[in-house]
Amino acid sequence: MEQYRVQPGSQVDLSQWDPNDTSLFPVGKKEGRKRLKKLNKRLAELQYLLWAENKHKLLVVLQAMDTGGKDGTIRKVFARVNPQGVQVANFKKPTPEELAHDYLWRVHKRTPGNGEITIFNRSHYEDVLVVRVHNLVPPEVWGKRYDHIRAFEKTLADEGTTILKFYLHISKDEQARRLRARLERPEKRWKFNPGDLKERALWDSYMEAYQAALSRTSTEFAPWFVVPANHKWYRDLVVATTIIQTLEGLGMRYPQPVEGLEAIDLSGL
Ligand code: AMP
Ligand code: MG
Repeated sequence: MEQYRVQPGSQVDLSQWDPNDTSLFPVGKKEGRKRLKKLNKRLAELQYLLWAENKHKLLVVLQAMDTGGKDGTIRKVFARVNPQGVQVANFKKPTPEELAHDYLWRVHKRTPGNGEITIFNRSHYEDVLVVRVHNLVPPEVWGKRYDHIRAFEKTLADEGTTILKFYLHISKDEQARRLRARLERPEKRWKFNPGDLKERALWDSYMEAYQAALSRTSTEFAPWFVVPANHKWYRDLVVATTIIQTLEGLGMRYPQPVEGLEAIDLSGL
């Protein structure tokens, strides 16, 4: 998945990243969905091991434009994991209580503990995305946040959290198709938020804000991946494979069973 990793210190130009790319698994939707099933199973095994070992913690950050596929990715990639041990944290418009604190307050509370996977559906990055695009705080304030975020993520990483950050990259045309589908399909209508059209009008400002975030906060300890996301099946394969490879790299083991199990005789039960 290295080709989708944002190299630390590089300048991201999103117009150079093809949202339609399917080059790593050029298999089409049908075969892609079959492969995902296998990955779902593998991810479930690894999550069970993570939970059993109770040593590592995994934080998965999902960011995308509206309709970019955050919800779908969670549903499809994590379809088979044990809900015990996996949490999803949704970050919406901050409440008055959240706004009365620093922007990382609500975020830090939701980070994973030992043995857990936490998926951030939106995240602290909203505080340099929507907040920057809408000037919800002045530039002197949001401008400092890239440093805070790097330091925050370094803290989590130093204390044992593995961090993976995915920007699900869709094109503006694809967003138009998905917004239309939300209006047309009865089971999707509930998701249509007229406010999304206002955000769409700010597409270019969002791309600038994303580019700044990706460029300034992709690090060795908390890398960003730009996931081609126009094809949902491909997006899911890229995210699932990246998570699986990362978990496999942790060298996890089941805890040693208690001693003396050989001597236990159950024949009298
Ligand atoms: P959704 O994910 O579609 O349910 O929408 C959640 C909304 O909350 C999006 O419009 C986000 O931009 C917004 N949001 C999330 N975090 C923040 C934040 N820190 N400040 C302002 N708006 C936010
Ligand atoms: Mg929405």
